[in-house]
Amino acid sequence: MSLSSRDKKVIWHPYTQMKTAADSIAIVKGEGVYLYDEYGNKYIDAVSSWWVNIHGHSHPYIAKKVAEQACNLEHVIFAGFTHEPAIELAERLLPLLPCNQSKIFYSDDGSTAVEVAIKMALQYWSNQGINKTKILAFEHSYHGDTFGSMSVSARSSFTAPFNDFLFDVIHLPLPTKGKEMNTIAILDNLLDNHLDSFAAFIFEPLILGAGGMLMVEPEVLDVLINKCQDAGIITIADEVMTGFGRTGKLFACNHLSNHPDIFCLSKGITGGTMALGVTSCNEKIHDAFLSDDKAKTLFHGHSFTANPIACAAANASLDLLLNDTTQSNMIHINKQQLMFMDRMKGHAALEDCRCIGTILAMDIRTSEKTSYFNSLRDEMYSYFLNKGILLRPLGNTLYIMPPYCITDEELQYIHDCIFAFCDDLIDNK
Ligand SMILES: *Cc1c(COP(=O)(O)O)cnc(C)c1O
Repeated sequence: MSLSSRDKKVIWHPYTQMKTAADSIAIVKGEGVYLYDEYGNKYIDAVSSWWVNIHGHSHPYIAKKVAEQACNLEHVIFAGFTHEPAIELAERLLPLLPCNQSKIFYSDDGSTAVEVAIKMALQYWSNQGINKTKILAFEHSYHGDTFGSMSVSARSSFTAPFNDFLFDVIHLPLPTKGKEMNTIAILDNLLDNHLDSFAAFIFEPLILGAGGMLMVEPEVLDVLINKCQDAGIITIADEVMTGFGRTGKLFACNHLSNHPDIFCLSKGITGGTMALGVTSCNEKIHDAFLSDDKAKTLFHGHSFTANPIACAAANASLDLLLNDTTQSNMIHINKQQLMFMDRMKGHAALEDCRCIGTILAMDIRTSEKTSYFNSLRDEMYSYFLNKGILLRPLGNTLYIMPPYCITDEELQYIHDCIFAFCDDLIDNK
């Protein structure tokens, strides 16, 4: 029996309507940008396997470091105990993050990194006996699938069955180009009327991922962060997707002049090898938990907090990320994406095309409205799979988020296939 038939009998997949979905493609090997299925077909992983893989699959250097760590210390409880891979990773991350960051808290993934950030922000106030409980977030935002992270995300078809159970959040309209003043005015108004109640503002800096690769200019985000910080509101940058180079700088917040209080990191952190989440914070947040009163402790932790193998993978991934080859590849990918954007400009099949760093996104024109359930999505997904490219459009929004090791020829091939798809769309109208 094939792997995909065996799978079908026993496995329930994420974000998958199990009644109508095609059988899962069983991958038996990954190498560089390529994934190989059980029948020997290969696919370029143009979405970095849900945005986590930054150096290509089965990177020998990360594999070696992981193997060494597994032979030396696979895991140890992280309360009362510590280990070098976690210490080294924290020592290396802090100087790369904006200079106000001073402590690293480990968890398991992006959603838990966000949960920890929310808890830090809320308890920061309650530890001081101050009643601030409201949270600000953006419309269209996505911060994860656990209840707290769903609460601060936009209300959408993802959250609909649970909306009654999510805590209330005030969602600011997204200040996309031309709409900046509206968002600023709404924030001003909120701050004038409810200043005393806001605990935190959480945002995906510069690009909102799952919400449709929607982009926001650094200038307006800086204004919003600045206003929140002036009002004493804790600012939380969810860099789970944007971290580790995606936006052309190591972190999206490196494009800003204001430094958020808390950062959430995951996805690219281990190069896509192991699950790991990080929440970093500044001294002010950390110190609000220091007390002789044990009730002021941050009571949060997971069984696998700071797993040594995951930390070793993250340290190895950082080695690769910071080397000159990777850095120049990232610049090169950006240039090539911009050139393709130029080539696509004015194409009748496109509503919009946008690029930041190594990410290129385009909204394909359709008669239906832009949404996650747009029927063009399935058509595009199969079209590109048949061309040997894994692209996973968000509705009619098609995007490329490649591993940084992708070659000119591989990226060119993806661009040519997208161009041909768009031409076919127009021809068949
Ligand atoms: C993916 C994502 C998350 C959730 O991360 P998981 O590891 O999938 O739990 C949170 N925030 C952002 C911005 C993300 O893109």
